[in-house]
Amino acid sequence: MIIPIRCFTCGKPVSHLWKEFKERTAKGENKGKVMDDLGLERYCCRSLFLGHVDLIDEVSRFKKE
Ligand SMILES: [Zn+2]
Repeated sequence: MIIPIRCFTCGKPVSHLWKEFKERTAKGENKGKVMDDLGLERYCCRSLFLGHVDLIDEVSRFKKE
């Protein structure tokens, strides 16, 4: 849906890193490298990013036009 504000497991704030992660991986950069650069060291936070799918546009009742 939307990336969580904080990591569920350790509480590290992560939502502000999502946009850069998405942009850089879309350009073909290695996901592991991008997460290292963003300071996501713990595997709880990394699993959050790797498993996340942006679904808000599919689910939202009010579409952007
Ligand atoms: Zn974490």
